[in-house]
Amino acid sequence: MPPDTSGPESSASGRAGPLDDYRAKRDFAATPEPSGNDGALAAPNVLRFVVQEHHARAMHWDLRLEHDGVLPSWAVPKGIPLDPHVNRLAVRTEDHPLEYLDFAGDIPEGEYGGGTMRVWDHGTYEALEWTDRKVTVVLHGERVQGRYALFRTGRDGRERDWMIHRMDPPADPTAQPMPATVAPMLATPATERPRHGAWAYELKWDGIRAVAFVEGGRVRFQNRNERDITPRYPELRELGRALGSTRAILDGEIVSFNPETGRPDFHRLQQRMHVDGDHRIRKLSQDLPATYMIFDLVWLDGHSLVEVPYEQRRATLAGLDLRGPSWQCPPHEVGDGSATFDISLRFGLEGVVAKALDSRYEGGRRSSAWLKIKHGMRQELVVAGWMPGERGRTGSVGSLLVGYYDDEGTLVYSGRVGSGLTGNDIERLDRALPQLERATSPFGAGSVPRGARFTEPRLVAEVRFTEWTPAGGLRQPVFLGLRTDVDPATVRREAPTAP
Ligand code: MN
Repeated sequence: MPPDTSGPESSASGRAGPLDDYRAKRDFAATPEPSGNDGALAAPNVLRFVVQEHHARAMHWDLRLEHDGVLPSWAVPKGIPLDPHVNRLAVRTEDHPLEYLDFAGDIPEGEYGGGTMRVWDHGTYEALEWTDRKVTVVLHGERVQGRYALFRTGRDGRERDWMIHRMDPPADPTAQPMPATVAPMLATPATERPRHGAWAYELKWDGIRAVAFVEGGRVRFQNRNERDITPRYPELRELGRALGSTRAILDGEIVSFNPETGRPDFHRLQQRMHVDGDHRIRKLSQDLPATYMIFDLVWLDGHSLVEVPYEQRRATLAGLDLRGPSWQCPPHEVGDGSATFDISLRFGLEGVVAKALDSRYEGGRRSSAWLKIKHGMRQELVVAGWMPGERGRTGSVGSLLVGYYDDEGTLVYSGRVGSGLTGNDIERLDRALPQLERATSPFGAGSVPRGARFTEPRLVAEVRFTEWTPAGGLRQPVFLGLRTDVDPATVRREAPTAP
């Protein structure tokens, strides 16, 4: 890329063509951009403008105004201001050819301005004033309408430094400035799913709660203590670009997935939480990459959504279509949460969060409109039989029959546990259980399935489950391991822990 030595005005003077700078920076065999056609196009009566969203190394918006047969251009790093209270930096760049008015495409990486160029807005404009130091225009675009002043701020030798200012009232008179901090809404612990009301269920993520502030294609992350944690997760920065000129405050959880288990792994994330130093942070972002799981939208384009019901916030969030290499909007399930519970258990996740559909966003509060239900029910249970595996595994253990002793010393059957048994577990049980086999059922209560094989009640399994059913069974039990340190005779049904 040739160095930019000439000021933008220099090209318009002398014998040089107005597009010399533009052409000198580009290899038209490599870039799809137009090479331009000096003055060959007849100047129309209506002057045109374009604003391109340019996903270059540093994202920016390019404002180009048709003038004297070319497009004088400014790169605006934070986008065209819609509010008269902010002046934004606008860097004068080289004049572009008129054909650039409808250019959109991918400029190859390594070429000048490499990255995707999209048309963000276009239309016509009137020039109220045009000098070397000041340009005042009225834009008639689809997204932007109104009077704007571009004025040079740089002293001699700094011809590139300009600012852009909106002279008309705010484009959206009801728009508010973006809040600088948001205290996240917190969930109340619960032991079971709510019985009344309309709820949605989400998976509970084991990571770091983070609120994302996105503006001008840039993102800033705050943790629960409202500390800026952006520099620690460089891979999440692309989220800012994905939102383009949309300004938003998102709520979610930063997690790190273990590629072997497919599960969020808090220990991986912990290795990234207290690291400083760019080199080390970059290395960790490759070795232990993070993903931002987005589950709420608190503010959008000048408007707070905290009073908007959860269900509607989620619908608006879904409309942003946020899916990327390092972020996603995991689904929520409206209803009784059975599918979410099931997935959460199957993947060994921490639990689920129930959210009242009509609830507002109660920032900073531990609210009963959000309930976190961990898969906290776990206890030891006596193994007293098994069911053979299905199809090709009939000679092998498929699930364990488990129970507990009641106060009279009766072994009460509480269900079968097959989920969570690994190949190693099954091998070990295939060896151990036949040696303990007996003909009669050791269970004194509960209805044992047909085809059961029974054993002496000598082994103890650690089992995780969601809840006790009204009939005294285990809902969604998962085998966690055998307990060699527990005397089977001491196994009782444990009371659920209070929230
Ligand atoms: Mn550009």
